[in-house]
Amino acid sequence: MIKDSDYKRVLDAIASPILIAFPLYDQSKNEIKDFEIEYLNEALSNLTQNLFSVHMKLSECIKDLSETVHWLQIGVECFLTKRSVEKSFYSNLGSCWIRIVVNSMLDGYICLTVSDISKDKENEQKLRNQNMRLAALTDELSTSRNDLKKKFNNIQTLNDQLQFAAYHDTLTNLYNRAWYNKCIASAIDKAARNRGKFGLVIIDIDGIKAVNDSQGLKAGDELLRKAAATLRRLESDTCKAFRFGGDEFIMLNESIVSRMDMKILADTMLSQVKAAGLSISGGISVYPDDSDKAEDLLKYSDMAKSEVKVSGKGRIEFFEKVMKEKFLQKMNIENKLSKAMDSNVFQLYFQPQFDVASGLLRGFEALIRWYDEDLGWISPEKFIPLAEESRLVIPLGDWVIDTALKTLKEWEDKYSFDGIISVNVSPLQLRRSDFIDELIKKVNCYGVDVRHLELEITEGMLIENLLETVEKLKQIRDMGMGISLDDFGTGYSSLRYLQILPLTTLKIDKSFISNISAKDGFEADITESIVSLVSKLGLDTIAEGVETPAQLDMLKKFNCHNVQGFLKGKPMPVDLCERMLKGDTSAVLTINNNTPESL
Ligand code: C2E
Ligand code: MG
Ligand code: MG
Repeated sequence: MIKDSDYKRVLDAIASPILIAFPLYDQSKNEIKDFEIEYLNEALSNLTQNLFSVHMKLSECIKDLSETVHWLQIGVECFLTKRSVEKSFYSNLGSCWIRIVVNSMLDGYICLTVSDISKDKENEQKLRNQNMRLAALTDELSTSRNDLKKKFNNIQTLNDQLQFAAYHDTLTNLYNRAWYNKCIASAIDKAARNRGKFGLVIIDIDGIKAVNDSQGLKAGDELLRKAAATLRRLESDTCKAFRFGGDEFIMLNESIVSRMDMKILADTMLSQVKAAGLSISGGISVYPDDSDKAEDLLKYSDMAKSEVKVSGKGRIEFFEKVMKEKFLQKMNIENKLSKAMDSNVFQLYFQPQFDVASGLLRGFEALIRWYDEDLGWISPEKFIPLAEESRLVIPLGDWVIDTALKTLKEWEDKYSFDGIISVNVSPLQLRRSDFIDELIKKVNCYGVDVRHLELEITEGMLIENLLETVEKLKQIRDMGMGISLDDFGTGYSSLRYLQILPLTTLKIDKSFISNISAKDGFEADITESIVSLVSKLGLDTIAEGVETPAQLDMLKKFNCHNVQGFLKGKPMPVDLCERMLKGDTSAVLTINNNTPESL
């Protein structure tokens, strides 16, 4: 049989502090009012530094462990529910963390097992600190991750912006030439694989140069934006618009079955652009009908566009093979033209003009001639526009004026020539700021009588800077020179020009004259009216391109002052003109002899 003292020895041998207590009842209320210590082992005495002893009330001694813990409540709860209650707290006693487990396993007793959990608490604290540091780190990490994400997003946005800028035009936001190059390469690739077709339309805006010059670049930019917005509305997944540079735009249409689809697109473009108040000219090329190469497709659509520009703007036409031949010829002439300037191959011919009433010589129009060994005679109607494009018309025009003045001087001296030599002046020449000064220098240098000189201008050069042109023409008139308006009837034929320009002569274009003997009398009526009106304004009149006696008769009837044409004399080289000036009438090249048409 194990004795009580043996149990106590066993309990004393246990390292965990243990206390056993039994309840004390308030008889009147029949409730536990306290516990009395029955036993405490040595470990507990050591832990509590002998403050606890047998028979002490738990409420008296236990508060030294912690005043804030309701010991009585814990004891009662444990005693009544027979469930263990656990409590951890920081003890005033020994300044350590203590865990107390209150048990009711002994019948009628409670047993308090006390353990020093400072180490646990320390570890717990360490763990908590570690967790906090971890949380802080995680926070930091997530902040830097957010920062990183933000930076990444910024880089992404920047990248997107750079990408957009690389492939878009800044003014119109349409795709640019770089993107076009990619798209056409992929379109060719796709069409080649699928044996498909696609087409491109290249357009430019009619008259944008005039807007830029007269209203400024901002107004021009506005037109470009307007055109771009219109084209963008026509875009689809398979049809894209590009700004190619300057006022050139391209639409690449990959969803076509036949050429008709391109025609439909072109017509839509024209009508939409017209609705936006613009006019465009353009050309179409189709893969693989015209070529299977990107550069050729572009070149050919551009050729078709150039053709439209020359033959009447405001249209879009398909490329045709003859255009390529024409273009090559044009390139050839352009090449030869720049070389010709250096090699003195031009000649100046003179076409006589006659007074209708008297039949006497009025004077000559100086007309440039160019003979090339490969190409033969090249008409000024072909090479003057090219010389204007390349601005070679300026040195060429200078040469014409020089040669005309030199010839005039010789004729004045040799033949007492008292007639007029008229010289065609290109708009580019007249627009030069030093044109008048240079003209005065030349006139003085050759010492000619300025009254023998007449400059021929066309209405085309009056559209831009009318006032400035009028001012220059006035200065020319003040010098005593004549000014004639050439090709009247082919341009705007504005009667207003006749009032504001300081003209001396009006030349009625040959297109009118060639029809004046027609039955309906339309051209005849107009010519008669022009002659009558112009004569009233005090101007001299010259009918150009008079080829038949019937035309001459009509002009006589209309009181037209002068005639110029193959009937009375073709443009001739200087030596023939001189023979004529000497009185040799057989020298005059007329429509009846066998001179080449190109002369
Ligand atoms: P334009 O100034 O109207 O010159 C008259 C043109 O009509 C000349 O053509 C002349 O040969 C042609 N012609 C004259 N009579 C007749 C005729 O009875 N029937 C026909 N069918 N034609 C006739 P050309 O010499 O070929 O010159 C064409 C145009 O080239 C000129 O038209 C002028 O605009 C320009 N041009 C000629 N020489 C010069 C020049 O030295 N400078 C500039 N800037 N332009 C010039
Ligand atoms: Mg002329
Ligand atoms: Mg003319």
